[in-house]
Order: sequence, then C-alpha cells, then structure tokens
Amino acid sequence: MTNFDILVIGAGISGAVLAERYASIGKQVLIIEKRDHIAGNCFDYFDENGILTSKYGAHLFHTNDKGVWDYVNQFSDWYTWEHKVIAKVDDHLVPIPVNITTVNTLFNEEISSEEEMQKWLSENRVKYDSPKNGEEAVLNRVGKVLYEKMFKHYTKKQWDKYPSELHASVLERIPVRDNYDDRYFSDIYQALPKGGYTKMFQKILDHPNITVLLNTDYFEVKDQISGYEKLFYTGPIDRFFAFNKNLTEKLEYRSINFVREDIDKEYFQENSVVNYPGEEVDYTRIVEYKHFGNQKSPTTSIVKEFTVDHGEPYYPVPNEKNQAIYAQYKKEADKLVDVHFVGRLANYKYFNMDQAFRNALDLFESLELKILKDNHC
Ligand code: UDP
Repeated sequence: MTNFDILVIGAGISGAVLAERYASIGKQVLIIEKRDHIAGNCFDYFDENGILTSKYGAHLFHTNDKGVWDYVNQFSDWYTWEHKVIAKVDDHLVPIPVNITTVNTLFNEEISSEEEMQKWLSENRVKYDSPKNGEEAVLNRVGKVLYEKMFKHYTKKQWDKYPSELHASVLERIPVRDNYDDRYFSDIYQALPKGGYTKMFQKILDHPNITVLLNTDYFEVKDQISGYEKLFYTGPIDRFFAFNKNLTEKLEYRSINFVREDIDKEYFQENSVVNYPGEEVDYTRIVEYKHFGNQKSPTTSIVKEFTVDHGEPYYPVPNEKNQAIYAQYKKEADKLVDVHFVGRLANYKYFNMDQAFRNALDLFESLELKILKDNHC
C-alpha cells in the first residue's frame, strides 16, 4: 500500500470530504474503513419493507451554512424536510422544543400569543445570567417543572449524567419557543438527501483517484502503509495514542443500543421520533423511519434507542473532566507533522452533520491555501 498521496482513516463525513477534495486536486487517496460500509454513522439502507432506514439513528440535515449546503448539493438532490419531535410527558404527546402548545397541554393554560408565552416563561424560569451547566441552562429557559418533566431524566438516560454534570452547551442545543413553531430546528436549510445518505456518499467517493478499503482496521495494517504525504484520522483520538504510555486516561463516549421491532400494522406512532423523557422506560426515544419522506408500507418497524457506555463510540461527553483529558491528547496530536485529526471523534466535539462538513472543508482549505501561499513566498 504505497502508491497514493493521501491516507484517510474513516469513510464518514470528514473522511469522505477530505478524500473528495484531495482527489479533485489530482491526489491519489486511500481510505481505510473498519466497518463493512461507507458513510460512517450516516449509513442508511432499505429494510425488508423497502423503507429507507438509518443504521445508526435518525440523521436530520440542517444548516445555515450556504457553503456547506452548496457542497452537499453537488452530490445529491435533496427534498425539504422540517423535522419535528414530540415527547411523551404525563400521557400527553407534546412538542419539543417547548412552545405554546407544550405549555398549554401540560399546564392547562390558554396561552395564545407570544406576549403571553413570554410572560409565562418569565414567571417560571429561574434566571441565570451565564448558566454554568446544563441544569442552569434549562432552568434559565423554562423553569423547574419542565426541567423535571422533559430534561432531567432524558439527559440522565442519554449521558448517564444529570444536566448539572454537563456543559450548558449540550442542553442549549434545544431552544425554547414563544410561539407555535414546532420544528426541531430553525435553520434556513433543512432537508434529506433523495435516495439516502449512503447513495450521496457513493457519489462523493466516486472518483478514479479514490480507493476505499473496507473491513480494515488501520491499526492492524499501519505498518504496511508508507509513502503518503498526509494522514487524516477521523477515529477516536485516544485510540490513535493507545500505545503512548503517558496518555493512560480514557476519554468517555456514549454509544447507542438500537433495538428494532417489527410491528404488524401500518403505523406505530404519529411522528418519526417520539422522545420518552421520563423514568418509566429506559430508552430515550422511538424512531419510526417510514415517516421520513412519508414512505409507505403495509407494516412497520420501530427502533428504540438505549444509550449505553460501551460499544461503538457515538457521542463525546462534553464536560470539564473530559475536556481536560482531551487537551492532553490534543497536545500530542499537535506535535505530529502531516497527521490531522478531523471530525467528531478525533476532535472530541459534539458536531452536527453540517459542522462536520464545514470542519473538513475548512481543514482542506487551510492546508492547501497555506501550501499555495508558501509556494508564492
Ligand atoms: N434533551 C432532553 N430531552 C429531550 C431532548 C433532548 O433532555 O426530549 C437534552 C439531552 O441532554 C440531549 C440534549 O438535550 O443530549 C441535546 O438534544 P439533541 O436532540 O440535540 O441530541 P441528539 O439529537 O444529538 O441526540
């Protein structure tokens, strides 16, 4: 394995973008992927009912970044899809993010204007000028009762930590609305790729300069690879330094156990995603994929998500302790020349999909513009 210029570890968003960008400037690229498929956690497939299903949880694309939107449009047609989530609270199904309907339903209120909702929020919220953690962030937005009903236990199930043990930014991902807007996101571009993410990744990687090696663990073959100019590593950063005796503290990750059930009726639930923020069940949410894009089939399947601390790493756990451990790894990473750590796991950051695209595009630009500049000096 020697005749290539760029080595990329991982065929998810970051790896695919870097491969495509380098191929486009004439470089020979080798991607090594441990799994038996491309597309990382965006991987989707058609199940036995012909329903496009995501193997690693629902992936809803949303962005305000025109550059990223233009980039992904080169590789797929997209249809507008404004994602909605409902939460099962006290036997009611209510919108999340919290909006006027949520408050009216749970508290028997009759709020009907933004002013009334703002008044309700200001009477209920617990004010924190700069919330120090997830609990303060939620209390500051919606107050104690909604915190208990919708955020506290869901967060404990998802992270095995209470909101007080996590960065405010984790809980601040969910806004609060003073109107009836029941969309989960408010970005300008909200869409799903026609035909699915895997198909889009096939197109991104469809270039004569790109070779993809599946079912291959980089760490098992790395001694056989040489001669490349640059290495882009998109796996967990601590795995890369597993041999380093000075770096023994493990980073924490959350994984998800997806439990699929086939149901012998047309629909199981009224929405693609129903969150279960209470303690009465162990799963965080149920996803019924046929709702995405209004797919049709005579029977249905659902996937219950249980978040666990073992298995494939999906989420970095953003808190002070892990950031301090990550900083030690980052220090080692920065010492390496022509080895770049990119993406959610290698940067230990809770990136959304568009941020992962942006991060990879920016890295490519910064490296290649730098080379152009150096050549001109
Ligand atoms: N969250 C919650 N209740 C919900 C939905 C989310 O407490 O019904 C919290 C939880 O801590 C979660 C965070 O808000 O990790 C961010 O939610 P998001 O939906 O962005 O998480 P993801 O889709 O990445 O799993």
